[in-house]
Amino acid sequence: MTTPHIRILATGGTIAGSAGSAITRGYRAGQVAIADMLAGAKTLGIAARLDGVDIAQIGSQDIGWAEWDILHSHIAEACADPDVDGVIVTHGTDTAEETAFLLDLTLAAGKPVVLVGAMRPADAVGSDGLRNFANAVRVASDPGAHGRGVMLVMGDSILAASDARKWATANVDAFKGYPRGPLGLVTPTTLDWFAPPARIRSPARFAWPECLPRVEIVYAAADVESDIVDALISLGAKGLVLAGMGQGNAPKPLLSALSRVVQAGVPVVRASRVDEGSVDRNVEVDDDSVGFVASRSYNPQKSRILLQLMLASGITDPARMQSEFDRR
Ligand code: ASP
Repeated sequence: MTTPHIRILATGGTIAGSAGSAITRGYRAGQVAIADMLAGAKTLGIAARLDGVDIAQIGSQDIGWAEWDILHSHIAEACADPDVDGVIVTHGTDTAEETAFLLDLTLAAGKPVVLVGAMRPADAVGSDGLRNFANAVRVASDPGAHGRGVMLVMGDSILAASDARKWATANVDAFKGYPRGPLGLVTPTTLDWFAPPARIRSPARFAWPECLPRVEIVYAAADVESDIVDALISLGAKGLVLAGMGQGNAPKPLLSALSRVVQAGVPVVRASRVDEGSVDRNVEVDDDSVGFVASRSYNPQKSRILLQLMLASGITDPARMQSEFDRR
């Protein structure tokens, strides 16, 4: 077997973070250039040819269209290169699920594309970065990783982009899969897939857009004001996502404001501020008569990405939108 060639696209995050001391609490994300990270990885004796490109050196809380656009074109280029076997994106954990989902919806499910991050900076005691990186190399090098879509490797788990959720602010085991658990488990020396790849040769669901339209998230809370909705529309929002209570509920004045927005032709997706569970149609809100879309298993931040891609593709019919949210 020839040595796999893996392209590493670095964006920053805690995996490239530095505190300057192993016992300092504060640190800065995105300090270590990819060349230095690869020099560290060399000491692990990883059985793959790694080459790296610095796309950005930022905390992922600052990622946005400019970085995503460059990242997408580098991944497309690497996937088209017969000499490259897989792609790893080093990324901050704060928005890894959003970047992973955006890429997953806009790339064909061919060669493995794996996001990886860390919860502890590179120079912290017990840093998880190199282990997660070694795990990601193992996944990206594996022929069984083809046809699975974009994945996230963290804490020895392999998660599908559509399922990955950050659920803890500081634990090294900060991600879980919802509604499906991990696709498999990985360590630097073992790899177990739980099922065969489900998306071999599946094309991209959406074309890469020229830009992403403005979609805002409205967070529901007890006795919250509803005039924020009109303010967001007048600021240019082309769609709204409700981070609702429970099954995507909200106080009556807020729901009425959102209904008026739908009547004016701006789509509204009802999602939940609760970490787990589905938001289904017509439970306590009459989606059929108002024209809301239910987010099903997608949380507000992922719903926002899906809605942005639909709007960029000219999809505005609520029934069609619902079918995209129903799809897994
Ligand atoms: N704020 C960091 C980031 O998302 C956190 C991390 O990487 O864990 O870049």
